[in-house]
Amino acid sequence: MLNLAELKELLAKPKNIVITTHHKPDGDALGSSLGLYHYLCRKEHRVQVITPTDYPDFLNWMPGNADVIIYTEKKELSAGLVKQADLIFCLDFNSLSRINDLGEEVKNSSAQKIMIDHHLDPENFDDFRYWDTTASSASQLVYEFIAELLGDKNSITADMATCLYTGIMTDTGSFRFPGTTSNVHRITADLIDLGADNAAIHQLVYNHASENRLRFLGYCLSNKLEILYEYNTALITVSAEELKRFNINTGDSEGIVNYALSVDGIRLAAFIIERTDKVKLSLRSTGTFPANEICKNYFYGGGHRNAAGGQSENTLEQVVHQFKSLLPEYKNLLTQ
Ligand code: 5GP
Ligand code: MN
Repeated sequence: MLNLAELKELLAKPKNIVITTHHKPDGDALGSSLGLYHYLCRKEHRVQVITPTDYPDFLNWMPGNADVIIYTEKKELSAGLVKQADLIFCLDFNSLSRINDLGEEVKNSSAQKIMIDHHLDPENFDDFRYWDTTASSASQLVYEFIAELLGDKNSITADMATCLYTGIMTDTGSFRFPGTTSNVHRITADLIDLGADNAAIHQLVYNHASENRLRFLGYCLSNKLEILYEYNTALITVSAEELKRFNINTGDSEGIVNYALSVDGIRLAAFIIERTDKVKLSLRSTGTFPANEICKNYFYGGGHRNAAGGQSENTLEQVVHQFKSLLPEYKNLLTQ
């Protein structure tokens, strides 16, 4: 393992650096990556952000977006960059399976690996770790890494502040989840002072729905929402045929699970969607209900207590049946 002094020493001279984050990057994954990207470029490193897959259109306005390489589109180039890297920053994930085939390249690279993350149960593939499960977001941790660990807050530019603000905003559900502490608000205030335009960022991220998404959302709410009052659970299930019928792209289905959770009294919400290669589950919960435990124990996934995800090779009907059949086991927790 590297200590902080050794990492600072490494960062004192220009290096080849790759920054990567989890597949299907969200606002925090991309925001933390691009925030750190701008910082390291400013320090004259040669830096490349590589995402394992593409990401939703509502994130492609972020400063630095044009410089991102998507692994699935440029596998050889990405593999070469990972091989040549002196340092690889792994942001917003802690298990190599979260970066798909890129995981093997990262594992085999001789680069020093730096994990900056806020998820539970980290794997041991890193050489330096800034990890805190109480943090609101990886973007908060990147801010602390630069401002506190490296003591370099004065180097934070408006572009960095914009990216990091976006990550904190999206991972806290616009500053409403329990992890949104007074400290998170202080960091956010700093980022606004450093040049993040909060109203503009909100507009770019949240008022960016396609007509398809809005009509699909309406369909999900009126035709597909199922409420199991006995278990304070709500679920929305979507088949591959429905995705095709509504011409749903990456990102169009994001956040729909939160509408199911917003029903009065609901403690657990599920969005179960039939993708081309597998069935994907998104769970959200309130209070102490461990959504991540269900994903970890039954659906090859994980995440946070109140926001978790998983997948299954079974059919959509089988997965829905399996999910419903787990509820009696959790009835006490769901109804207490
Ligand atoms: P979402 O429901 O938005 O896909 O994911 C919610 C949270 O669960 C995110 O914090 C994400 O990191 C985590 N998550 C989603 N899918 C998986 C998965 O397959 N494995 C693990 N370990 N975490 C996941
Ligand atoms: Mn995150």
